[in-house]
Amino acid sequence: MTTEPLTAPKAANRVSKIVSAYCAAHQLSRFPVDVTRIALEAHHIFGWTDAITRIRAASIRGFEGCLVPNDAKTAWMILYNASIRSSGRIRFTQAHELGHYILHRLLKDELKCTEADMATWSKDEIDLEGQADQFASYLLMPLDDYRKQVTGDANLDAFLACADRYGVSLTAAILKWLDYTTEKAVLVYSTDGFMNWAWSSEPAFKAGAFFKTSGQPVPIPAGSLAADDRVSNERVGVRLAATTWFPNAERDMHALEMKFVAERLGTVISLIKLPSDARVWPPRVCDSGSGH
Ligand SMILES: [Zn+2]
Repeated sequence: MTTEPLTAPKAANRVSKIVSAYCAAHQLSRFPVDVTRIALEAHHIFGWTDAITRIRAASIRGFEGCLVPNDAKTAWMILYNASIRSSGRIRFTQAHELGHYILHRLLKDELKCTEADMATWSKDEIDLEGQADQFASYLLMPLDDYRKQVTGDANLDAFLACADRYGVSLTAAILKWLDYTTEKAVLVYSTDGFMNWAWSSEPAFKAGAFFKTSGQPVPIPAGSLAADDRVSNERVGVRLAATTWFPNAERDMHALEMKFVAERLGTVISLIKLPSDARVWPPRVCDSGSGH
């Protein structure tokens, strides 16, 4: 008999089914998910003896969270950075570390995770951080429930309502939508006029609408809502030339830009949507190797 590998979505769905049944039986509110309680019970769900026994805030400078075993690896502890003020970030960090416990605890001696690790959301099976994010995403925001919440315009009003329902940050709520939407949309997180990171839906990525933020600093484009200090909040979005963000877009194409100034001073969340037929790849450079 072969055992199917436990993927992040499968592991989260298995836990979610039990949580749903438990909440229904005890007439408890299903959301936000009580991650602490689930983490302390997780070993029962999977039939393991090495339980998570403690979850606590700690001074772990430079890290958002950690999964740490005792010497004998018979018990585990989830730590999260005591300086985090946002309950949404704490909940996501705890769920991320729970994902490491279920999926990766035997692969490494301990797992230490940065804030950037919490926004990887990669589906790559060798990317442990991406898998832990996927687990947290599915655990906190089950897809079937999430889809029912965003049925009309997918704008910041809808995502703020999701953030409230699931007890997560606005960023996490938007990333969840980007993970499955067929719309071409890009989330940009910026500070002081430069992108910290950006994430595209798959259709946007395939259309060339993405930003590489890991190398040179990428400035926020002039003329965008994100660059306009007079605007702190635009939840429904304004139309602007798509070339503002994507210089290779067609001249007459429009984009929709939304903006939200996040809880941490000076951090701007931007969501840019493109039309379904948009393609913004740079023009191909012809091979001039022939010398003609
Ligand atoms: Zn991690």
